[in-house]
Amino acid sequence: MIAKEREMPLRLQKLEALDRRLPHSNPMKAVVTEAYRKRKSGYYGEVALDKHMDTYLAHQYTILRNIRLPVRDSFFQIDTLLLSPAFILVIEVKNHSGNIALDPKYNQMTHTYQQNTAINYNDPLLQVKLQQSLLKEWLQNHSKLSLPLDHLVIFTNPAVHIETSSPAYYSRVCRLNQFLDKITYIEKSYSKPTATSKEIKSLAKIIAKRHCPESEIDILNYYNLSEDNILKGVHCTECGNFHMKRVAGIWCCPACKNRTKDAHFQVISDYFLLINSNLSNKCLREFLCLSSPSTTLRVIHSMDFVVVGKNKGRRYQQRNNK
Ligand SMILES: [Zn+2]
Repeated sequence: MIAKEREMPLRLQKLEALDRRLPHSNPMKAVVTEAYRKRKSGYYGEVALDKHMDTYLAHQYTILRNIRLPVRDSFFQIDTLLLSPAFILVIEVKNHSGNIALDPKYNQMTHTYQQNTAINYNDPLLQVKLQQSLLKEWLQNHSKLSLPLDHLVIFTNPAVHIETSSPAYYSRVCRLNQFLDKITYIEKSYSKPTATSKEIKSLAKIIAKRHCPESEIDILNYYNLSEDNILKGVHCTECGNFHMKRVAGIWCCPACKNRTKDAHFQVISDYFLLINSNLSNKCLREFLCLSSPSTTLRVIHSMDFVVVGKNKGRRYQQRNNK
């Protein structure tokens, strides 16, 4: 059973919108593109694991995805959590390709890729152990159940090569094609249930309810950018330019002749992600590069906005704050 699904993180949505609208001439372009690439890769690695778990484990475990819980004055985040009446498994997901060397001496992970570029990261095994101990503390304050906890790191990219000299990693770090065997191996240590299925479902509900989504950030400000740095206009998904024109209710690309009715959806979504959660007719007209307020109004009326204020103070907001 899936007790909490994974949503595309807001930060990733913001990076995607920014990368789309930041021109190549901007000095921050490479930094933004790399940050977007990394976050996207991590997210799609998690989604790849989700699909396998839906097929093989959803009938047996209660699964929660992308959980962020408060502990003391901070938060901790878990990629995937498996609950069963016998134990709880904390899973950390990595999606690197290339060579991964895990060093037990200094608890570091070295990622080597493309022409011997090497980057050092914190040891993912240490990371997942820390998440496990924070979850234990959280559970002591929020549940009467006393379930044993365990952990696993899964590398989801088929193009990864993992190396380590330490047996400590063998049983708790694996590739995607090994995860079922590893979980079966871990299950053997916890054969005796200490909770009922009903108690596990109720615990999953409490965890899902206490999940705190990542706080919103002003992504332009984060990268020292302003509204003037980003491209306005309606993006053509076929050829990539931002000059689609609205003709008789249809967006037409002058460059590749692509025609679509819905191109403004992405523009409006980009506006909310990058600039402001309140949209006026004037702001939208400028962002869509439309000359006519009445055409802008027709676009507005085609959307399911929440309307606040009246007359000149009228603003439009996304429903459900999405
Ligand atoms: Zn085009």
